[in-house]
Amino acid sequence: MPELPEVETIKRGLENNLTNQTIISVQRHRDTLRQPIPKELESVITHAKMIHFTRRGKYILIELNNQQTILFHLGMSGKMIVRPNIKDEPIVKHEHFTLITKEGQRLSYIDPRRFGMIDLFPSEENHTLLIHMGPEPLGDDTHQHKLFLHLLEKLKNKKQSIKVTLLDQHIITGLGNIYVCEALLLAGISPLRESKTLTKIEIQRIIQGIQTILTQAIAAGGSSMRDYVHANGKKGYFQMQWKVYGKEGEFCLNCLTKQKKSVIKRVVQAGRSSFYCDICQK
Ligand SMILES: [Zn+2]
Repeated sequence: MPELPEVETIKRGLENNLTNQTIISVQRHRDTLRQPIPKELESVITHAKMIHFTRRGKYILIELNNQQTILFHLGMSGKMIVRPNIKDEPIVKHEHFTLITKEGQRLSYIDPRRFGMIDLFPSEENHTLLIHMGPEPLGDDTHQHKLFLHLLEKLKNKKQSIKVTLLDQHIITGLGNIYVCEALLLAGISPLRESKTLTKIEIQRIIQGIQTILTQAIAAGGSSMRDYVHANGKKGYFQMQWKVYGKEGEFCLNCLTKQKKSVIKRVVQAGRSSFYCDICQK
């Protein structure tokens, strides 16, 4: 599933290639993904200019100059590819939606498993799916301070484990299983810890860990378990070197550098595997 760094990478690719371009043609090749594509989509977005590209959680938002915003979600297997438009070029397999710009670019939305989503909403409103989302994990220092205060408040009475809490999109948005496991290793916090037992310093370490791992992954162009393509169509596959995720039974690399031997453990929490080192993570 594309995670936040992949979605951010795709968003940046779209932004670099399509900002201020005008949509001249829209073609849908099917009507329904996870939910129906709005019937009025073509009539609303054709001739509009794409002025602003943002990411919210794992949603990509393209704001148009007609006060409308297109929302995309990549579901389990979605991709968005931009390349020069070649006249009469056939659509690729699983291409459900194609948008062509006056400037000669072609944006293809490709989603083999069709759990993705394309929707439309007025820019001055918030899409219903975005209203209850927690804050973004990344941002400037002011944002990070607000995030700290937010987590302090949200965690203080929570018995739930920190691992499960960090996966809750209402508390903090955009974090998937891999990134939470890796961030908790960096922070030195066990995934089993009750959220309410975390100290202020430990919460700061978690925020720092999340920032570090996401920033590395974005710098690497996103990473993914599955096939993944950059917005420009180039295969941007980059498997991050995970330190703990998927490493059950292997020696913890942190511990090895300190001449200690500790084996990575796996535990299932809320139906998802957590990987951790019980020497480094308390
Ligand atoms: Zn360790």
